[in-house]
Amino acid sequence: MHIFSSETVLSKNQSISHPILDTAEVFLDIKREDQIHKEVSGNKFRKLKYNLFEAQKQGHTTIVTFGGAYSNHIAATAAAGKIVGVKTIGVIRGDELGKNLEYTLSQNDTLRYASETGMQFKFITRDAYRNKTSQVFLDKLKEEFGSFYLIPEGGTNELAVRGCEEILTSKDSDYDIICCVVGTGGTISGIINSTNRNQKVLGFPALKGDFLAEEIKKYTSKTNWELVLDYHFGGYGKVNQELIQFINTFIDQQHITLDPVYTGKMLFGIFDMVQKGVFSKNTRILATHTGGLQGIAGMNKVLMKKKLPLITI
Ligand SMILES: *Cc1c(COP(=O)(O)O)cnc(C)c1O
Repeated sequence: MHIFSSETVLSKNQSISHPILDTAEVFLDIKREDQIHKEVSGNKFRKLKYNLFEAQKQGHTTIVTFGGAYSNHIAATAAAGKIVGVKTIGVIRGDELGKNLEYTLSQNDTLRYASETGMQFKFITRDAYRNKTSQVFLDKLKEEFGSFYLIPEGGTNELAVRGCEEILTSKDSDYDIICCVVGTGGTISGIINSTNRNQKVLGFPALKGDFLAEEIKKYTSKTNWELVLDYHFGGYGKVNQELIQFINTFIDQQHITLDPVYTGKMLFGIFDMVQKGVFSKNTRILATHTGGLQGIAGMNKVLMKKKLPLITI
């Protein structure tokens, strides 16, 4: 028995104490999805679960998916494939990375981890990457790797959303506000689908752009949600000193590690909103920690080059 064959996996809610919350008389708990599993943490576990079941049901022994060089989804898919015993192939953006694989792996913690976990890579140009879902490209992949089960970039599809519907349980029904980061929108869609009428979901996009609401509407018909667009820090993967300092202070005070691409931005946003009086007294907030901690090592290399403070790990 491994984690993917078990019944619904539960994560625990951890209550946060902080003077800013006390002053506003607001309650904040963090749902520790990051603690589900060491390697397939957080929302990636949720998103992969039913896809792995489906791949096995269809008799596939190979999974193909796409991602950037620091992708949490790539790392998680590699780990999940190893756990359930299917071959994984990662189609990675950036053909330059494939020119000297040994060097790439020595520099990039995500790809090294995925490689050591058994994932095989195909590096493609940024142009080719833009057309990765075209039939022509997929046919080429079939020629090269044989038949496979395809998981989209970021892992979002109907089955991923179904897995994310298991994040909230009946024990969470007393929270007024559920917060979640948004990358492709799969995770928040699952969360929205399992809320009750009295709850509202706030999504914090980790990237710029207003297309995410449309993505979310593909997977949910409920309307008790809203996107908070003020905390992307300039775009996907962009950080500044203020964010890094917030993350490090949070680690110090709460002993919870946040990642700089997703959960750090959301928690920064939540505290900022609490401080600005956005939430009325006695509001009970549940913030979803979606994991993603494997990406910190890679980000720290970038921060070092920019002479910015590093994230404490
Ligand atoms: C991938 C990821 C997300 C984004 O999830 P979507 O379902 O794509 O919106 C959020 N948080 C973390 C930590 C992630 O790794």
